[in-house]
Amino acid sequence: MCGIVGYKGKRKVKDVLISGLETLEYRGYDSSGIAVLEKNKIRVIKSVGKIEDLKKKLKMYYLDNATCGISHTRWATHGEVSVENSHPHKVGRVCLVHNGIVENYKDIEKELSGKYSFKSQTDSERICALIDSLYNGENEIEAITKAIEILKGSYALAIMFDNKDKIYGVKKDAPLVLGIGDKEFFLASDISAILSYTKEHIILEDNEIVEIGNKFDIYFKEVIIYKKVSLASWNIEEAQKGGYEHFMLKEIEEQEELAKKLYSKYIENDNFSDIVINLSKYNRVDFVGCGSAYNASLIGKYFADKYCVKSDFYVNAYVASEYRYMNHCYDPKVLVVLLSQSGETADTLACLRMCNEEGVDTLAIVNTVSSTMAHEAKYVMPMLAGPEICVATTKGYFSQSYLCSLLILKYMYSTRIINKEERDKIFEEFKKLSKYIKNIIKETNYKEVAKALYKSEDVYFIGRGVDIYSCYEASLKLKETSYIHSECFPAGELKHGPIALISKNTPLVAFLTEFSVREKTISNIMEAKSRGAKIIVIRKESITIDKTICDYEIVIPLTSEYIQNLLAIVCFQLISYEVAKLRKCDIDKPRNLAKSVTVE
Ligand code: GLU
Repeated sequence: MCGIVGYKGKRKVKDVLISGLETLEYRGYDSSGIAVLEKNKIRVIKSVGKIEDLKKKLKMYYLDNATCGISHTRWATHGEVSVENSHPHKVGRVCLVHNGIVENYKDIEKELSGKYSFKSQTDSERICALIDSLYNGENEIEAITKAIEILKGSYALAIMFDNKDKIYGVKKDAPLVLGIGDKEFFLASDISAILSYTKEHIILEDNEIVEIGNKFDIYFKEVIIYKKVSLASWNIEEAQKGGYEHFMLKEIEEQEELAKKLYSKYIENDNFSDIVINLSKYNRVDFVGCGSAYNASLIGKYFADKYCVKSDFYVNAYVASEYRYMNHCYDPKVLVVLLSQSGETADTLACLRMCNEEGVDTLAIVNTVSSTMAHEAKYVMPMLAGPEICVATTKGYFSQSYLCSLLILKYMYSTRIINKEERDKIFEEFKKLSKYIKNIIKETNYKEVAKALYKSEDVYFIGRGVDIYSCYEASLKLKETSYIHSECFPAGELKHGPIALISKNTPLVAFLTEFSVREKTISNIMEAKSRGAKIIVIRKESITIDKTICDYEIVIPLTSEYIQNLLAIVCFQLISYEVAKLRKCDIDKPRNLAKSVTVE
């Protein structure tokens, strides 16, 4: 979701809109545009690329008589990056910008196809047509109210109508704020965009509609309501972080919402949606990624190894920088799944291009759907994580691991390894994932564990089964954010060498979510404990361990094994964040690291 700015007032409308968008640039975007009302006519100007490109275009227009306007930076979710797909969209008498994802846009399109022809591939243009179809030319609030009763999904909308010197705003599950100045009003998806003009604001709640002319009114179900005006105490940088001290914490907490978004897109009507690629037509699947993306792909491989044991189906996971230089034997029954948050990671992209040259089927799991990988892969599954600003990934890994599990589960269902009843039970847990994450963020004693870790220079992790793969990611998170040396080992390997590293107070973190091998891991914990290690256990509630063995423990809710690792990881993301804070590290921009690794 990207940026929205709207303005009604005496200043030069274009300047307010552009400066607001520039404040929102930190979120990343792929195109931008504005719409202004001039002499009762709406004029739309848009451009792909940077706001600088839009500004160059705007120089060709004289817009100084504009009385109100709306603007947008787009982070494409539906349709490629193009001028047609960028916002604002104008259909009939209605013009709008949209942040979010509308899920039933295809149904809306079908419903309206006789009356409207669409120029873009976006969900947003369908909302525009919907409002126009419900507009009687007089009552804008009625049209918007009727439209939002139909929309499913998330949206923040800034809307204008032909011949109306007003702007309108409405939102659901996406932020929108009204800024109140001296005879001037602002709309923004992020308060930082308007803080240089005013501190007075009202945060809109779901489905409240604000109408802004020479004054403003807020409606709920077509009735005017009154809301208290608040005074922002943040500066722009604080506001960009939404009040959080760091983007990392904000993004960790956003996983609660992300779990819901993933469910509604990928598990449609409690069944696998069609965009989850069916692996059953392949004999071999190679997952390829770097860093956390590789760690996430190991989760997919793990479940395939555990449950899809068939002579004609084999799943592997590879580090992209190795895979690109290996020799491969491809045939039409091979699928290569490439994972990358940015969709630009140099090594992963090179693997994709190598596969394309070989004519092998490819699937890109990427966050940025406008990326090169999304364009060049045969299939795409978007991660839906929204802009991730902290360099160390949290919600990106979350989506990738979730989607890897889902791919394997769909294979298991379509090859009858699990039946409908089993699948439904698993989906019940996927549905509750957001609630579990909330519980971990709010209830766990992660701060206490962080205090026990932050002075250490070495931390070791152990686990068995899926837990070792969670340990890979946890150990990486700790390294990236707090520069603590850390390593992880399958628990049974400890005594084959690494135990020599354990001395008094060496922290050993054990992940304990694999029920069948719990006793084995507990024995390995004991071995380290006897040598003086400080034991930290992250366990699911159904596995108990003698209190005297652990120095610290965190208990996570019990859920389906396909997402149990996500709960353990969210917990360790919080610990890593807290440790980095105690060590006064530059959490969002760790030294030597870059967000998008576009070099080999
Ligand atoms: N779903 C819309 C699109 O793809 C809005 C994306 C955004 O939030 O920027 O155009």
